[in-house]
Amino acid sequence: MAAVQENILIKKIPPVRGLLQRDYPISQSTWFRVGGNAQILFEPADAEDLSEFLFRLDERIPLTVIGAASNLLVRDGGIPGVTVRLGKPFSGVCAQKNSFEVIASGSAIGVKVSRAAQKFGISGLEFLSGIPGTVGGAIRMNAGAFGSEISEVLTQAKAVSRQGEILTFGRDEMDFDYRHNGCPDDLIFISAIISGRSEDPDLIAERMLEVNSARSVSQPIKARTGGSTFKNPPNSKAWQLIDSAGCRGLMRGQAQVSPQHCNFLINHGRASASDLEELGEEVRKRVFIKHGIDLEWEIKRVGLKDLASTEHEQHI
Ligand SMILES: Cc1cc2nc3c(=O)[nH]c(=O)nc-3n(C[C@H](O)[C@H](O)[C@H](O)COP(=O)(O)OP(=O)(O)OC[C@H]3O[C@@H](n4cnc5c(N)ncnc54)[C@H](O)[C@@H]3O)c2cc1C
Repeated sequence: MAAVQENILIKKIPPVRGLLQRDYPISQSTWFRVGGNAQILFEPADAEDLSEFLFRLDERIPLTVIGAASNLLVRDGGIPGVTVRLGKPFSGVCAQKNSFEVIASGSAIGVKVSRAAQKFGISGLEFLSGIPGTVGGAIRMNAGAFGSEISEVLTQAKAVSRQGEILTFGRDEMDFDYRHNGCPDDLIFISAIISGRSEDPDLIAERMLEVNSARSVSQPIKARTGGSTFKNPPNSKAWQLIDSAGCRGLMRGQAQVSPQHCNFLINHGRASASDLEELGEEVRKRVFIKHGIDLEWEIKRVGLKDLASTEHEQHI
């Protein structure tokens, strides 16, 4: 994938009601605090704005969607084409006591969903309070913790396709697997119906506290990190394989394998995306040599590898 020639890209961008920004410094908003600029960042005003934009957008222009960027490594050369981020207009959450459902928009953060559910005595969504991503990101990643996954509580999701159609999916149509959603990669999830059970709000609040204190002991939640780096292979834990391959604390520049949780990478301040990615590849190599197991990246890596590659522009 190459950067799109700037003047051509601008001419091909359809009119919108939302916010369009050129050369947006995306590293400001990623958890790792690394990555080059997004050529164009689009924050739609609402679902119709997004749908019309995608309907008109030249299909040769690369499209990337990001949420809270908590499981995302944006490479140093930046993201070519258009990056869509669902902002404030997509952050609403509404709990419905009678049906024990929460209707959440795509950019709502997990903890907001859990808190709304707790207030109305809806249990089963406590695990989301410790996952720092958005509802859209959780659906794409099939995010989960403490034995629960979004796929178990999701009833329905609404998405916009690359062609601009607004589509609705039931849980069984989404082909969920461990940290995987089988829907086409270019769908943008804009809202979800999430279901729980009836329970005393105080008991739910207690469990949310337990989830968060367990997390603060086991994970570097205050660091510049990207969550779990690799998926757990069948019948083993990625962190144990990484630890026994001698990678705990391993460094490359200012990137480090977290001494606290070996499946987390950390940027100590001035690491580049390539430091982090190369450190991850070094970990994969050492685990393969020691255990013969090929770790699969859970973190999604997007964008161009290095600044030089932005010079090779795509002419549309
Ligand atoms: C400290 C920390 C702890 C974490 N703990 C956990 C944990 O316990 N369990 C867990 O599962 N994860 C955990 N994560 C990882 C991360 O929070 C989840 O994967 C989360 O679901 C990602 O959501 P996001 O909005 O940040 O997505 P991003 O990181 O922005 O993107 C991840 C992927 O989702 C896609 N995406 C984002 N939004 C949308 C959308 N609206 N529609 C379609 N695709 C979209 C992106 O294109 C990308 O492929 C942790 C991360 C951190 C930093």
